[in-house]
Amino acid sequence: MAAVEGLMQDYELSLQHVLWRIERLHQKKEVVTKLEQGVHRMTNAEMVPRINRLAGALKRLGVKPGDRVATLAFNNHRHLELYYAVPCMGAVLHTLNLRLFPQHLEFIINDAEDKTLFVDQALLPLLKPLMGKIPSIQRFVLMTDASAPSHSQDGIGDMLDYESLLQAESDSYPWPKLSERMAAAMCYTSGTTGNPKGVVYSHRSQFIHTMGVLQADNLGLTEKDTVLPIVPMFHANSWGLPYACGMAGCKVLFPDRFMGDAKSVVELAEQEGATILAGVPTIWINTVALLKETGQRLPKVHTVICGGSAIPRSLMEAMDALGLRMLHAWGMTETSPLGSVSRPRAGTAKENELDVRLTQGVIVPGVEIRITDPASGEELPWDGVAFGEIQVRGPWIARGYHNGYDPGKLTEDEWFRTGDVAKISPDGYIQIVDRTKDVIKSGGEWISSVELENAVMAHPKILEAAVIGLPHVKWDERPVVYAVARPEFKGQVTEQEVIDFLRDKVAKWWLPDEVRFIDEVPKTSVGKFDKKVLRASAVPIKEGATQAARK
Ligand code: AMP
Repeated sequence: MAAVEGLMQDYELSLQHVLWRIERLHQKKEVVTKLEQGVHRMTNAEMVPRINRLAGALKRLGVKPGDRVATLAFNNHRHLELYYAVPCMGAVLHTLNLRLFPQHLEFIINDAEDKTLFVDQALLPLLKPLMGKIPSIQRFVLMTDASAPSHSQDGIGDMLDYESLLQAESDSYPWPKLSERMAAAMCYTSGTTGNPKGVVYSHRSQFIHTMGVLQADNLGLTEKDTVLPIVPMFHANSWGLPYACGMAGCKVLFPDRFMGDAKSVVELAEQEGATILAGVPTIWINTVALLKETGQRLPKVHTVICGGSAIPRSLMEAMDALGLRMLHAWGMTETSPLGSVSRPRAGTAKENELDVRLTQGVIVPGVEIRITDPASGEELPWDGVAFGEIQVRGPWIARGYHNGYDPGKLTEDEWFRTGDVAKISPDGYIQIVDRTKDVIKSGGEWISSVELENAVMAHPKILEAAVIGLPHVKWDERPVVYAVARPEFKGQVTEQEVIDFLRDKVAKWWLPDEVRFIDEVPKTSVGKFDKKVLRASAVPIKEGATQAARK
């Protein structure tokens, strides 16, 4: 029998739809940015004509469909305008990670062949070392309040001015018809190993991801929410929050260059009535310390979205105690990024809720997951015991990288290899055990560096801890803890104390060979523990240490 086609419209799924919603339905909603001189406040009704003008300016500058338009910018209103204008006029928004080393930025700009680069005034110093090394760039646009047709900047030369470009255009723009398969945006992986790789999102993937983010069992943003993303707009599109906010009609708060300043962020959240905050665990470690010190509280916040790395139990407990309920999510640049969200399922006993919320949760609707044995490639059962590499597939999961790098990330049957190692419970809760490259291989068995870190961070005198495996003659690798004492306990906590604390929490053979105290755990450009840096400078394990720990 011949297949029969459905009779539904082939409506192209594009970000123009999100723009249409903010224009027609959410005119009164505000975009508020914290600046040096106070806050910048703008309604969507004011922003939409600016987005139209920006698209007009891009066209006048010769930006063609498919051209990459790079941004080197904080989370702010102009960056949001670019989020709409660039993809909606058919070009590709390439958000540059402003915490990268110059040589990585240079590599990324050249790899993406960016032609136009928008830069926040405060970030100009990052551009200067790149001059003469990024030949694809045809024009720089300076994002600043002071408008002047062109600026001459020391070491950079002539730059166009954002506000002057907008002034020269009209309030309306004839948006072209787009195909949903066209590239909308690109983001590079944070490159913890080797060079960063370009992930290219399509309009379709962004649209469907946005719908996924909004689901009540996922991040569940609603029109009544005021959202403060403390996750950078260059980190996996700020976890998709800007478009999700546009689609739902949320008020949006941006911290601009105050991103890392807990005091300013709390102030902004308090003054503007934030209901949802989002950021990696390290942000919340600083926030807890501040709130405890000042006695401030954020009673309107009902959800703190947290992902990027596992949430330590001690952190979730401390946040709960302050009335800040964390919602744990897992994902990666290649998964747009939302992959799983942890909400206790129906029937979860109250006393098990915290345990469940600390897992990486359940895979979101639209994405399929499996775990496979790293040696045989066989699929493993969801029994809460067997662990293997997470592989995923779905409409917002990458199938390759820009310029064809690393084709091996896709299996033969077209699942994406995440490089994360996890077990999955019969209920579907994912528990990340480690990254494949961080798991510690000791005597043929695996030790989860993440679990060990969490156990160490539960120690009341420890602020942060990262665990790496170091070479060992007998056991292949053994765990070594790099711990940071809480400021009030600096110099007052010993290696033996930490090892004794762990004795009833982890298997005996997991006990670290050494605990080394440091002032701060090195972080990657997106705020995660940078174990590459720790490994590079690690001295070998002391002889006899293994035996000492096991006594
Ligand atoms: P990125 O592409 O920079 O966002 O990094 C993605 C990686 O961060 C994932 O592959 C995980 O290793 C890690 N990650 C993200 N979210 C979590 C989480 N909730 N728990 C543990 N690891 C996470």
